[in-house]
Amino acid sequence: MTLALYNTLTRRVEPFAPLAPPRVTLYTCGPTVWNFAHIGNFRTFLFEDLLRRHLEHSGYDVFHIMNLTDVDDRTIKAAAAAGKQLDQHTAPYVLAFFEDRDYLRIKPAHVYPRATESVPAMVRLVERLLERGVAYKGEDGSIYFAIAKFPTYGRLSRLDTRELKTGARVASDEYAKDDPRDFALWKKAEPLDEQVGAAWDAPFGRGRPGWHLECSAMSLEQIGRCCRAETLDIHAGGVDLIFPHHEDEIAQPEAATGRAFARHWLHGEFLNVRGTKMSKRFGNFLTVRDLREQGVDAAAVRLLFWQTHYRKALDFTDEALAAAGAGVKRLGEFYERLGEEEKGEREGPLADLATKFEADVRAALDDDLNAPRACGALFEFVRDGHGALDAGAGGAAPARAALERAMGILDILPSSKAVDAELARWVDERLAARDKARKAKDFKEADRIRAELLARDVEIEDTPSGTRWRRA
Ligand SMILES: [Zn+2]
Repeated sequence: MTLALYNTLTRRVEPFAPLAPPRVTLYTCGPTVWNFAHIGNFRTFLFEDLLRRHLEHSGYDVFHIMNLTDVDDRTIKAAAAAGKQLDQHTAPYVLAFFEDRDYLRIKPAHVYPRATESVPAMVRLVERLLERGVAYKGEDGSIYFAIAKFPTYGRLSRLDTRELKTGARVASDEYAKDDPRDFALWKKAEPLDEQVGAAWDAPFGRGRPGWHLECSAMSLEQIGRCCRAETLDIHAGGVDLIFPHHEDEIAQPEAATGRAFARHWLHGEFLNVRGTKMSKRFGNFLTVRDLREQGVDAAAVRLLFWQTHYRKALDFTDEALAAAGAGVKRLGEFYERLGEEEKGEREGPLADLATKFEADVRAALDDDLNAPRACGALFEFVRDGHGALDAGAGGAAPARAALERAMGILDILPSSKAVDAELARWVDERLAARDKARKAKDFKEADRIRAELLARDVEIEDTPSGTRWRRA
């Protein structure tokens, strides 16, 4: 069996075949660094990590590009609100993103182009579109993409014209455009842009790039530089980006080059927290640093995410996270036991179990990254492996090696420093008791509980949104 992936463009699971094997060019939309990324964003980044690792494990030579959106409406507004220049405001969030990525064991992309450092490529793309008559200058001085000049617009999202009109953002600059569906490629510099240092000179007027333009220009520039290619093998992101972001990402380079922009489009589903789509708007906001500071094992987060297929919505609950933590612990115990086994012979029932396990994991992931099925095979291997060890079977060494190879993809062996679910439960219980003491104005008891927590290396901090805790 060979790798097959669902392609949003065709709405089918298709055999995956890159343009120039073994090279695979992969572009994934990166974070907008106006604030900390939430775990919903990281669900997408983790699904992309699984994709990348499975491709590499299958022998492909992946070139992975992830952009950093460090200039757009949100970053500009946030910088202005903080009284900072754009780069001053975004720099700590870029660092935080890399820290969170490393904590979650996500393999770094090969390049992280930043929008603010890729403006010349964006200007060139706009110039090509103007030359071809697919772009025009609006009455407000911004440059727009003329959707009517690109007949295949809407192919990815499959929205009809009426839906596109309602979907199009209604902005104050509506009358500046020829057609309400048209989107801005380049926004004329406003005083706020100048104030935070988010304006660049261009032959068609001083301004700043639109978000959609950024991704198209950066991906084309990077695959040209690395691989002399003009078409991406895979473009991935969250489902919320299909329209308009990815639709526009396709329109811009295809209208400019006449060549296909990306062959496979993969989209990861949402993360729900207690049934609601996670977003800052709903207030059910959880950052990866919240998890890290509470000592949650990244392996548990990874396992929790693998247990739901990337094209299905995932519910994130404390109970599910604790259950994943227990699974990770069981896996760690089995791995240790295989290592302690004296009979490290190459042959034996354990080696046979390992061969079946590896074949099952491969078949599951080849089937549109079916990670839940791969995890099922993994825990079946753990259970049957313990049974075989109890019966004194040989073959522990190849079984351990097979487990390590699978961990090269799933990467869910427990971290040594992780907090177990038991400690987390104890802390929650102690914090509730402290809350009660404070409400009853029993500050002596509250201080005693704080000291009790500190004795187990748990530091606490009272914030307007409640008490936060972390491992000291
Ligand atoms: Zn993008």
